[in-house]
Amino acid sequence: MDKQNKNILVAGGAGYIGSHMVQKLLDENYKVTVIDNLSTGHKEAINPEAIFYQGDTRDKQFLDSVFAKENINTVIHMDAFSIVPESMKDPLKYFDNNVIGMIKLLESMVDNNVPNIVFSSTAATFGNPINNKKIAETDPQNPINPYGESKLMMERIMNWVSKATNINYVALRYFNASGAHPSGKIGEDHHPETHLIPIVMQTAYGQRRTLKIFGDDYNTEDGTNVRDYVHIDDLADAHILALKYLNDTKNSDSFNLGSSTGFSVKQIVDAARKVTGKPIDAEISSRRPGDPDVLVADSSKAKKVLGWTPNYDNVEDIIETAWNWKKNNPNGYQE
Ligand code: UDP
Repeated sequence: MDKQNKNILVAGGAGYIGSHMVQKLLDENYKVTVIDNLSTGHKEAINPEAIFYQGDTRDKQFLDSVFAKENINTVIHMDAFSIVPESMKDPLKYFDNNVIGMIKLLESMVDNNVPNIVFSSTAATFGNPINNKKIAETDPQNPINPYGESKLMMERIMNWVSKATNINYVALRYFNASGAHPSGKIGEDHHPETHLIPIVMQTAYGQRRTLKIFGDDYNTEDGTNVRDYVHIDDLADAHILALKYLNDTKNSDSFNLGSSTGFSVKQIVDAARKVTGKPIDAEISSRRPGDPDVLVADSSKAKKVLGWTPNYDNVEDIIETAWNWKKNNPNGYQE
């Protein structure tokens, strides 16, 4: 790749996935610019070797000013609200931030001749898979929550724009992003925290008395939801491969990214008890709105086309990295 092709803008680079992406890009000798409005992200999570501009992705003037200063080749768009239950309560917040953000970003990319975008999409665009089977890219996308709907709208907008302009895209549909950087210096830190593994870690660490398991009457073996937990560093690797794919092929495409193994909520709690050596008190509580029974990826396309090989194939190893982050930073970025 020539020098210009290594010039990347990470939108949402102060977030959980974004901060790990920035670190990976720097490790791979890319030049990294970050934009983030810090509404949910943390400035401390951004490696200081990256150039940082604070601003909102819905602000086209702001985007134009960043593109005018930095000679960007590809945008990695990780800036979105992503909490399923919050989206059920406040759908407009999700359509405003996520969908308008994508429109303004693409407008600015067109005006500033930025040719490539790698987009953080989600398993939530699929809704309830047929017969709880592993989800392939060819499966129908019928979201059952506004978060998934907003991401599907973003995918579709990108697809139409790619047909009408020189912009090419790769949409990466993450299943459950989890774990932390092995250094223990960056990790997951949301306020309030809603995701399973960090909540399990808080319970193991004694910051929460009891973990609530949201429903045990789902159509799964033990009745609790089954998800596909994929390590954040493996996700970051897939983006590096997507950058190469865009530069080499000048094509657009979508890929499902998961470990392809499903774990129930109860299995995650048991694995965490083993890794941490802590009892982790858990009780069954009512269902959380918007949760599909099972979401497990068929990632064979990403493996075949992008050459993606996830390094973490064991959920205990993933939990171990989350536990390492928790022990090093019990209060996240707020010391
Ligand atoms: N979950 C749970 N208790 C919690 C948080 C999450 O039982 O305190 C369940 C949730 O219902 C889902 C799974 O854990 O089945 C993963 O949820 P998370 O919010 O981590 O990710 P999502 O699947 O919503 O992307």
